[in-house]
Amino acid sequence: MFIDTLIIGNGFAGRSVASALQGDSLIVERGEKFNIFERRQRFMQMDKTNRHYALIRSSYESKHAFNIPEQMPKDCASEYILVDGGCSNHWGGLSFRLSQAVLDGESTDFPWPFSYKTLLPFYSRAETLLRISADPRDPEGRNPRAEIKGSDKWHGALGKYFPGAYIGAQAHNLSADNSQGQGQCLGAGDCELCPMDAKTRSLHVQVNTQVLNGMMVDRLRFEGDKAVEAICVTEDGPLSIRFNRVVVAAHGVESLKLLWKSNLPAATPSELLGHHYQDHAVAELACVLPGVNIPFLQVNTAAQIVIPELSGEHDGIEYTTLALMTPPKEAARAGALDIEKVNAWDVEGALKDMSSIRSLYVLLEIPPEWDVSLSYSAGKVSMDTAGYHQSKIRYNGVIESIYQKMEALGVRPIRSAEQRHYMNAMGTHHLIGMLSMGNGPRAVVDADFKLKGTSNVRVAGSSLFPRCGSRNPTVTVVATSLMLAEKLNSESGEPLIKRAG
Ligand SMILES: Cc1cc2nc3c(=O)[nH]c(=O)nc-3n(C[C@H](O)[C@H](O)[C@H](O)COP(=O)(O)OP(=O)(O)OC[C@H]3O[C@@H](n4cnc5c(N)ncnc54)[C@H](O)[C@@H]3O)c2cc1C
Repeated sequence: MFIDTLIIGNGFAGRSVASALQGDSLIVERGEKFNIFERRQRFMQMDKTNRHYALIRSSYESKHAFNIPEQMPKDCASEYILVDGGCSNHWGGLSFRLSQAVLDGESTDFPWPFSYKTLLPFYSRAETLLRISADPRDPEGRNPRAEIKGSDKWHGALGKYFPGAYIGAQAHNLSADNSQGQGQCLGAGDCELCPMDAKTRSLHVQVNTQVLNGMMVDRLRFEGDKAVEAICVTEDGPLSIRFNRVVVAAHGVESLKLLWKSNLPAATPSELLGHHYQDHAVAELACVLPGVNIPFLQVNTAAQIVIPELSGEHDGIEYTTLALMTPPKEAARAGALDIEKVNAWDVEGALKDMSSIRSLYVLLEIPPEWDVSLSYSAGKVSMDTAGYHQSKIRYNGVIESIYQKMEALGVRPIRSAEQRHYMNAMGTHHLIGMLSMGNGPRAVVDADFKLKGTSNVRVAGSSLFPRCGSRNPTVTVVATSLMLAEKLNSESGEPLIKRAG
């Protein structure tokens, strides 16, 4: 079989490239096709003693024996799945761009090769593809296909303390009947296996490209600097596909693995592969907003509120604070109860405070400089997290600065309810970095998305990000994939023009 452009992976990265690519292409995907509602049925019948595990792992097990994801170490909570459409099946849909500070930052060894402004038109296209529903106050200048309803109630409630707060945009699966609303999302939760299929998945991105399912690319075979063949594994035995150029979009760990197994050209800086893993670390905090009545259940969608007043950068670590829209945990309620008020017979006042509690979820950057890294030896992937553990103490400074910001705004922190998860583990399923792009000394992929030392291997997905900061990655995965497709289109245009001349 020979194909002009082979795309490996049918997740958001691979499919977004395919959606904008001209000419002859093929997607190979190791996961089998499946029906999301059947998976939901299977989940309903499962042993759910460990509900999280059932939802995120067991429900998405592949029927193919070769589709077993790598087990991350105990101090990395991130997971991924190997079914058709990849992690887009169980992502949460929270969609915001990387910050301008991160994209434009001249950070020493990890600068992006293009500016926020250059990426902007691709962000707009990505947000249309993802069918973003946004708060009218979303500051990212979006042109939302649909508006999140009920956001005014939250602005009204939080505005006294956090005038910049807005509901984080969501990628919603708008139906033909409801192309202007906020999609099918009813805020039922379980976004990892949505009972309504309400969030956008990669399979909702329209492509004219054929997808071959149940085919795992084991490695690429190079002749000199050119990859010429993908050596694949299927249930029916090995198979090989020859191509003119290839896009590796198999996501963090698996993109790396197939490159590690390939006879890469000597000029590819193989020693840099797997370095600078980024993801996010997390802390949960809580606070009381005196005098505020939190409007629980007033927005008809699963979402979080971004609080710019409690976000920023501290000690070189970017952080984003999200307010959860669900009722607070027991520890926060216990911490908020003012016993002195109760003892002074102001029970009503003490109970009223209970409706002013806000739970916060802080996403903390894992800076690329900490050099968390993956390596591959004797068929096994390992992760070195020493750099993380040496530096995680610096997050304490971030948390203290958030508390100071709260107090300066008149917000009362509930310190007894805090959970510094980052002290034990990192990871929010964002497998970022390890194949960094750019002009910096640590880059393995150049500014044209080409794996250095090769003439025809491109990389798509979050593994490219030289620095992610504290934002979720997927809108940027889609935007950069569209940018890559445009580069490939102009590349294939060149020879045609020359031949015609
Ligand atoms: C629980 C969870 C919640 C999340 N929530 C959010 C969120 O709210 N917001 C956000 O921005 N991001 C979120 N993410 C991250 C988001 O899901 C990913 O950024 C995104 O799906 C990555 O897309 P991708 O195409 O790069 O990778 P994937 O979706 O993993 O797709 C890669 C595809 O390649 C296939 N593949 C792998 N290896 C091979 C091979 N060797 N040969 C052939 N095919 C191969 C896989 O089967 C898969 O289909 C979340 C992730 C998880 C797990």
